[in-house]
Amino acid sequence: MPLRAGAVVAATTAVLVAVLGFVLTFGAPSAHAAPEVTVRQDGRQLQAIELARRVEARQQELAALNRRADARDRALIGRQELLARYGYRGDPDAVRVVLPMASYDLSAGFGLTGPLWEAEHGGQDFSAGAGEPLVAVAAGVVTEVAYAGPYGLRTILELPDGTEVWYCHQTDVTVAVGQQVEVADVVGSVGSTGNSTGPHLHLEVRPAGGSPVDPMDWLRAAGLSP
Ligand SMILES: [Zn+2]
Repeated sequence: MPLRAGAVVAATTAVLVAVLGFVLTFGAPSAHAAPEVTVRQDGRQLQAIELARRVEARQQELAALNRRADARDRALIGRQELLARYGYRGDPDAVRVVLPMASYDLSAGFGLTGPLWEAEHGGQDFSAGAGEPLVAVAAGVVTEVAYAGPYGLRTILELPDGTEVWYCHQTDVTVAVGQQVEVADVVGSVGSTGNSTGPHLHLEVRPAGGSPVDPMDWLRAAGLSP
């Protein structure tokens, strides 16, 4: 089940991050260190880098596991139930828009200002466990998959009316540029890449590829209750 897999990701990541924190705290080089101590501490720093690499690899592995569990679930449940998971309860043949994730907590809203953002917060944040699957909110074409500075690993989905939907801070992606996706197809998974303090989706909605609008308004206008 995705929820259980998400909890495993969160717990394992927490343990690895705690170990990494310990190594970084007690392994930091001191200006007064004797040469032999410095050598030992350089070793600890290498160890910390290796641990960070392993944390990253483990996160990727768990995200992949999560996606496989989600794919199994999808094969077992009907289309109607699947869409209901993403907030749509109407006729499956009439679906246009769904929520980007099945399970989340709303965090930072659109238009906020503060030390976390260079300018106004241009999207809505959805907190969730690392690896939680992200789905296409509507049918469209993937126009970008790339690391984008503060946005981290970002996927841009362009809808037929020209609206761009940005998925930011992902752990990994499951789509490629040029790919056509249908509503509720998995496009990637939640992560904390880029300027992020914890696993979450930063969702942006940009009509005609221009300035962002409040994703909550956009989702509500489509009849959803995010
Ligand atoms: Zn955000």
